[in-house]
Amino acid sequence: MTTGIRPLFAFDNSFVRDLDGLSVPWKAAPAPAPRLLALNEELAAELGLDAEALRTPDGVAVLAGNAVPDGAEPVAQAYAGHQFGNYSPRLGDGRALLLGELHDVHGHRCDLALKGSGRTPFARGGDGRAAVGPMLREYVVSEAMHALGIPTTRSLSVVATGEDVVREQMLPGAVLARVAASHLRVGTFQYAAATGDRALLQRLADHAIARHHPGAAAADNPYLALFERVVDAQAALVARWMLVGFVHGVMNTDNMTISGETIDYGPCAFMEAVDPRTVFSSIDQGGRYAYGNQPGIAQWNLARLAEALLPLIDDDQGAAVEAATAVLASFADRYHGYSYTGMSAKLGITGPGHEPLVADLLELVEAQQVDFTSFFRALSPKESSAGSAARSLFTDPAAFDAWSARWAPLRTATADEMDRVNPVYIPRNHLVEEALTAATDGDLGPFTRLVEVLARPFDARPGLEAYAAPAPADAGDYVTFCGT
Ligand code: AMP
Ligand code: MG
Repeated sequence: MTTGIRPLFAFDNSFVRDLDGLSVPWKAAPAPAPRLLALNEELAAELGLDAEALRTPDGVAVLAGNAVPDGAEPVAQAYAGHQFGNYSPRLGDGRALLLGELHDVHGHRCDLALKGSGRTPFARGGDGRAAVGPMLREYVVSEAMHALGIPTTRSLSVVATGEDVVREQMLPGAVLARVAASHLRVGTFQYAAATGDRALLQRLADHAIARHHPGAAAADNPYLALFERVVDAQAALVARWMLVGFVHGVMNTDNMTISGETIDYGPCAFMEAVDPRTVFSSIDQGGRYAYGNQPGIAQWNLARLAEALLPLIDDDQGAAVEAATAVLASFADRYHGYSYTGMSAKLGITGPGHEPLVADLLELVEAQQVDFTSFFRALSPKESSAGSAARSLFTDPAAFDAWSARWAPLRTATADEMDRVNPVYIPRNHLVEEALTAATDGDLGPFTRLVEVLARPFDARPGLEAYAAPAPADAGDYVTFCGT
């Protein structure tokens, strides 16, 4: 079935056109009784889509995968990846489809994809499905990240399929419509490199350069320049995660983009009390993807990207390795630069040389189990005179006083400036869980309210205090699950 809402989408599918061999044409499995649970009207407008048309049965049919709009060429994308350090040569979209590419109102090309739309040739043992809870979770967390100013894929809609999926219990199924600068992953390059088809690898790299890092095209060595730009984008991204306490949870190479957007919100969660060992995912027993390990893991993943790019970087393998290694080594300085700049903004200070102040603060908040988000927000003098709100978060305030006496004379930013970088509302785990439980039971109210609150994370609003507070002390350890 094709749909009558012809003008709604103007697809132009460069991935399919340029990269024969990296995808398989495929169709979504039908959803028996599609029902729209969430529609992102702001994002629809940015994509130049008519939100009202998307709400009609024809629109919902597209968002559910039941109708293929004119111009769409749905494919399942191929990729490989290191999962928890182990290489899988063939992962691919097991339950996702790239519908096609659109230009947003700013002229930027982006992918429109479905997730949870049925088994594909890459499904391996999976059922191709997704449950309502995890798809709404990706929706709320990705939109919160966007509102925090962090590069991320976005969520256009979640449609309940009307069919149950088998998990530990039966759960209502759903399809997420995801918008991304692209779905090119480190694992896409690993897959292309492993085919041994150098021409395909080069076409992929050229496609990635044109799409995400066009400046690399003019470099002496465009493929080394591509690598450098991805290293930089990922250093910036992971620094942003760290500055809000975000734990991605499954930083496999197939879950790391070439664009520098956050992707694949599975077991992610936000840290509350500061602890670099923070892990939420039930399957991350070794803590590989713990909060404090994220920069190192990003660099490890980038080394895998470098390996895939070697044949393009130099015909002489030794020379290629040497050049790529030098760029890879720059990750640490780039990361520390982004992190320091971000931390300085959070503290309202400027200039170089304050690393010890930052390091001592992190040690202090960790030692006293202080809530990361509340601390920085309480630091701005508007919240209290002379930082007393921040002080009250410490069980031993004397240690904070000593630190504060060093910090206060350095602060140059106004309270308003600090409030623009220190969010008051983040997707706190207990609130997300509450909202998803209610939604799974049919009440979308808490989810819709949470999405609204998180759309303006820096504006404290009266009556929303509960959204700013950490989980109650008796909440217990928060655990998230993969394979959702
Ligand atoms: P993820 O960890 O969610 O990024 O997924 C890793 C791989 O498993 C990807 O190839 C996914 O497409 C695939 N996958 C995850 N869940 C399912 C599912 N329910 N059915 C089929 N494939 C899945
Ligand atoms: Mg993934």
